[in-house]
Amino acid sequence: MLKRSSRTLQAGCFTCHGGQAAWTARNAQAVAARHAKATGHPTWCDIVLVVRYGQHVPSAEQLDLEAAIAAVPA
Ligand SMILES: [Zn+2]
Repeated sequence: MLKRSSRTLQAGCFTCHGGQAAWTARNAQAVAARHAKATGHPTWCDIVLVVRYGQHVPSAEQLDLEAAIAAVPA
């Protein structure tokens, strides 16, 4: 069975960046933790994990709809 997953990280410091993400690399959580420890600033990290099993096969109705949309001249 096909499995596909992705993990997206966004992190920042409430004091330095407000609610804006400042760190988005794979190590964003560690950077936020290090920054909090080094500065005493409150930091945050949002992590989104997406996992998919199998392969999506579009239904006949969806394919008909997509064909109808594609047939409309721009
Ligand atoms: Zn800070």
